[in-house]
Amino acid sequence: MKILKFGGTSVANPDNIRKVKSIVEKNNSEQIAVVVSAFGGITDLLLDTSRLASNQDPAYKESLKQIEDRHISAIRELIPVRAQSTVLSKVKSDLNTLETLLEGSFLIGELTPKLSDKIVSYGELLSSYIISEFFRSEGLDAVFKDSRELIITDNNYGKANVDFDKTNANCNAFFSANAHKITVLPGFVASSKSGNSTTLGRGGSDYTAAIIAAAQQVSLLEIWTDVSGMYTANPKLVKQAKCVAHISYEEAMELSHFGAKVLYPPTIQPVLGKEIPIAIKNTFEPENPGTLIAKNNNGNGKTVRGISHVGNISLLSLEGPGMIGIPGISKRFFETLSLKNISIVLITQASSEHSICVGIADEDVDMAAEAVNDTFAYEISSKKIKPVIVEKDLTIVALVGDNMKSHQGLSGKMFSTLGKNNVNIRAIAQGASERNISAVIKKDDVKKALNSLHETFFEENIKQLNLFVMGVGNVGSKFLQQIRQQKKYLKEELKLNIRVIGISNSRKMVFDENGIALKDWESLLANGEKADKQLFFDRVKSLNLRNSVFVDNTANLEVAQSYPDYLRNSISVVTCNKIACSSDYAYYKELKELSKKYNAPFLFETNVGAGLPIIDTLKHLIASGDKVKKIQAVLSGSLNFVFNTFNDSVTFHDVVKQAQEQGYTEPDPTIDLSGVDVMRKILILARESGHQLDIDSIENESFLPKESLETSSNEAFFESLKKYENDFQAMYKEAANADCKLKYVAQFEDGKAKVGLQRIPKGHDFYNLEGSDNIVLFFTERYPNQPMIIKGAGAGADVTASGIFADIIRIRNF
Ligand code: ADP
Ligand code: ASP
Ligand code: MG
Repeated sequence: MKILKFGGTSVANPDNIRKVKSIVEKNNSEQIAVVVSAFGGITDLLLDTSRLASNQDPAYKESLKQIEDRHISAIRELIPVRAQSTVLSKVKSDLNTLETLLEGSFLIGELTPKLSDKIVSYGELLSSYIISEFFRSEGLDAVFKDSRELIITDNNYGKANVDFDKTNANCNAFFSANAHKITVLPGFVASSKSGNSTTLGRGGSDYTAAIIAAAQQVSLLEIWTDVSGMYTANPKLVKQAKCVAHISYEEAMELSHFGAKVLYPPTIQPVLGKEIPIAIKNTFEPENPGTLIAKNNNGNGKTVRGISHVGNISLLSLEGPGMIGIPGISKRFFETLSLKNISIVLITQASSEHSICVGIADEDVDMAAEAVNDTFAYEISSKKIKPVIVEKDLTIVALVGDNMKSHQGLSGKMFSTLGKNNVNIRAIAQGASERNISAVIKKDDVKKALNSLHETFFEENIKQLNLFVMGVGNVGSKFLQQIRQQKKYLKEELKLNIRVIGISNSRKMVFDENGIALKDWESLLANGEKADKQLFFDRVKSLNLRNSVFVDNTANLEVAQSYPDYLRNSISVVTCNKIACSSDYAYYKELKELSKKYNAPFLFETNVGAGLPIIDTLKHLIASGDKVKKIQAVLSGSLNFVFNTFNDSVTFHDVVKQAQEQGYTEPDPTIDLSGVDVMRKILILARESGHQLDIDSIENESFLPKESLETSSNEAFFESLKKYENDFQAMYKEAANADCKLKYVAQFEDGKAKVGLQRIPKGHDFYNLEGSDNIVLFFTERYPNQPMIIKGAGAGADVTASGIFADIIRIRNF
């Protein structure tokens, strides 16, 4: 014999019920019992309706009407007209009884647990009867059997406890006399010894099926549901979750206890002793093998088998100096909760015995707090113990696996994953079996926690980065283009899944939690909402996605001032904007510290030399114990372009104009021409070498006339260049006559930095620097005479974008 249980979604409507029939039909060789849930959503509707009735709200009638319509229309669709009248009259009679019960509740304004069970049992009673009649009308050898005649419980309404002796005897008596091939039974419902309807707890139809399976010692229990098995995490919350093909009873029990709703937790218990395997299958994909739960099915040494979560949890803590070493406190604490019938989901006790903390359902916590405060009233009044502390709106996330006990470092990995993603952990518990590690976190962090833990434990190689990009000018748009081009390669080769979730320019912003389609970003942004930097940050924060990265492609001061907000929320910052790192030393330091404290990388490789790996190299030198003694560099791609292009056959004005047009200068070219840009760069290099330096201590002898430096618009600046053309020509000639080239050089030595135009003679490392190239010479303890040299294209949107890209890829390794 075999048991097949079909859940609410599987029987939610006539189309689905037809699918159920074709699954049942294929099992034609054996006798089978088919246990069904109420039509999807009906149990909730029955509970809502009875709540309305008992609150004396006449709206219960409309709600009841919906329940009636769902059942009547199912009959009309499923049962042929000639057979409809008997079925309709039985169902209508049941619906009339239901109406009478609700009317009673409405009139007296009360709903006892006993009455609630009676009312809610109609969900399964009606669905199973209709389905059995449908099977019969299709020519199957089916019979209906009311589970209340088989399963006997105590009268703990809402979640009754089964009397297995009586139940097993009833099942044996019934099935041994039953000659029909298919027996259809309602799940969830049972009856007390005195004959009242009881229920087995929400989700309890799985349990009904397991009880019958154990009583009949069947070969297999099949749970047919709306997903293809037990997944590594709830597939509705974690898209990357995968089906676990084989799992042990204990692991399945642990996962379901910690919220894997696909199986009602008590279900395993009756079948475990008899070693009856459970198959979890998908009604909508019957060919999919699903999951097999069986003895010793513990995954060939795999450690973590699944991640689950239980929501609506509160923490209740009792603490105080009077608890230390006093026997009996825990006993009284737990006894109090047990007397109130409150089930405890998680327990932690500090080894100091100074506090006990338990996780219980939100709905129980007020009652629990009151009861515990009563129990310890004396100790509280004498200040030996503090009144209980309650924290609501929490969730437990749990890693589950039989083989976790033989592995070290799993909890470290779990907590560092949560920590890196700024998920605050309120309490931790490890099951004595070491089959689970649980953490209590805020409800709002659940999705992020599940997804990041899933990434750590099940997608070891794939890391998802969620980017929020501000600024889509020259550099920003190239950056988006590069991401789009490289997406596939990164995923396949680097196991990096990059998604752009938000984009903003100064006018508009756009978000898509599932990733913006990069081929259309321009039109999506154009049709986006009005840009607002604060709102942008608020959005990034509230989306609360794991591995979030804020990418600043602007040259904007305000944006640079917003980095602490991001870092404090463990959102990494990647920026080509030099303002933050070259402003006050205190601010630079603060950003570095925030990055460390919140585990959020703060990367700005493109601040010096665009895409050249200058800062990264410097970091590696220092990390490996080297010390920087001197830095000499040509760091302005713009100035290098200008002085390489300028000669006596072109005007200085035209060359600068060309540099600006080709994207080699900052939007405001005076920042480059005045040397400020180079000052910022050498400042950043000095700081990264470990020196505390500020911009005003850098010597800068400008080659530009004072008038040009003081212009207030780009137009005025270019006009002034025309005016001083002769001076520029003279500067050129002087250098050319001495067989030298003009280079704008930055230098850092003995804690001091300076920048300025120099005449570089033939043979010098700087002499042959072409176009907009940059060059840096690091003289260090390890490279005292022959410096470490980094040279290459140091300006331009393309190389800068690729430098930002490189920083994004660096984040992968954090
Ligand atoms: P049924 O009505 O068939 O009993 P349930 O809604 O009770 O179905 O259980 C199936 C649901 O369990 C799935 O739709 C899924 O959202 C949820 N679920 C939670 N955790 C898991 C998990 N680890 N694997 C599979 N499903 C899960
Ligand atoms: N119908 C009941 C519920 O929704 C039992 C079940 O479907 O398992 O809780
Ligand atoms: Mg269920």
